[in-house]
Amino acid sequence: MELQEFEGAATIEKIAALCRRRAFVFPSSDIYGGLGSSFDFGHYGVLLNDNVKNEWRRSLIQEREDVVALDSAIILNPQVWVASGHVDTFSDPLVDCRTCKLRFRADKLEDAHCGRRPSKKPGEFSECDLTPPRAFNLMFETHVGALADDASRAYLRPETAQGIFVNFKNVISSMRVKPPFGIAQIGKSFRNEITPGNFLFRMREFEQMEMEFFVPPGDAAEWHTYWIEQRLDWHLRLGLRPSHVRVRAHAGEELSHYSTATSDIEYLYPIGWQELEGIANRGDYDLQQHIAASGTKLEWVGQDERYVPYVIEPAVSVVRSVLAFLCDAYDEEVVADRPRTVLRLHPRLAPVKAAVLPLIGKDTAMVEKARALYEELRRSMSAEYDDAAAIGKRYRRQDEIGTPWALTIDEQTLADGTVTLRDRDTLEQERVPLEGTTRLLADRLTAS
Ligand code: ATP
Repeated sequence: MELQEFEGAATIEKIAALCRRRAFVFPSSDIYGGLGSSFDFGHYGVLLNDNVKNEWRRSLIQEREDVVALDSAIILNPQVWVASGHVDTFSDPLVDCRTCKLRFRADKLEDAHCGRRPSKKPGEFSECDLTPPRAFNLMFETHVGALADDASRAYLRPETAQGIFVNFKNVISSMRVKPPFGIAQIGKSFRNEITPGNFLFRMREFEQMEMEFFVPPGDAAEWHTYWIEQRLDWHLRLGLRPSHVRVRAHAGEELSHYSTATSDIEYLYPIGWQELEGIANRGDYDLQQHIAASGTKLEWVGQDERYVPYVIEPAVSVVRSVLAFLCDAYDEEVVADRPRTVLRLHPRLAPVKAAVLPLIGKDTAMVEKARALYEELRRSMSAEYDDAAAIGKRYRRQDEIGTPWALTIDEQTLADGTVTLRDRDTLEQERVPLEGTTRLLADRLTAS
């Protein structure tokens, strides 16, 4: 059964407010009034982004033998984007409203609001006066070198994938790989989106996590199914609830210029079902385009075979993933008559794994023990020490940044060498020996 309503306390506004209050995300260029859909990441945002990227790398590179890493340049030879088809076709259909002067994506009018009557869709209100759609290229242009003329025109990459295709030959001749194998890359991409918005969901500058998996042409459909399952499993293992995730195959007219089949993993954001990750069967489109344009043979040559591989591509941005994890993890509840906001993030994603808190911040003996534990813990995991404010307030702060475990040093610690270990989700408190706490948490983290 299809669930239409987001289950949980999160709204985009609440998530944005928490992110700002707790140093996850700030509006970019804030003191100058910001810049449309650009955001800066604060301390906890950086840690959360890194954890998402690390989990992606772990599952695709560390825990497999058939995927290698790459980090290609953002500004490539502009010929790359001519060959890939982006100069000609990487565009969205743009419509202008002559009445309210707003711009919309013709294919997303359903999700947009009329500038005069926000209760209506563009085109629905009697005063709406929409232009016919025209193609608007999403690539940001720049110039390389001192002269800003046509010859120096270059582009900020709109996807990391092309950097992988143009390195295909370098990788197969320098690494011990043969199809089926993948090349994975994380890096910034840039798109001059017509209608950005909804906080982190659609940004103009965002990090993508993309993998191009090269396979014998006859096996492409099977690998496509395989990667949809693998990637779905990754999102679920890291905590997205199954009722908020679904797979949707693109209909023919929806397919990108390079794709023979695409399925989206969609997430039920508080704004509705939206694409979280796309898994495309790009066929041999890109390699063939670069073979034709560069004259370089980009093919697999085995003992008795020679072919241009097909490519399966799972592509997701860090921010869309982070936004889904935040929406899923956000919870509000009342505990002992007091409201509590908590991020129930998977421990591997939590920016801080453990907080060390002396019950009384002015008690020298407690502070000494707590500092020693904190200094030991932080060698193996991200940890925080906090002795300011009442203990309840310190717990609340850790709950809001999603810290799964808090260790409290109190009178009893001084007497018998045990500490209180508080669980963020159940709020249960257990007494554990101070000695060996780091091992205990490291084991829980590995098992999580
Ligand atoms: P949409 O239809 O939402 O514009 P798309 O189909 O153009 O997305 P792809 O080109 O398939 O997106 O990009 C792969 C992935 O990159 C998407 O699944 C999404 O996770 C992410 N992504 C794309 N555009 C943006 C953006 N403007 N901001 C944040 N993430 C993005």
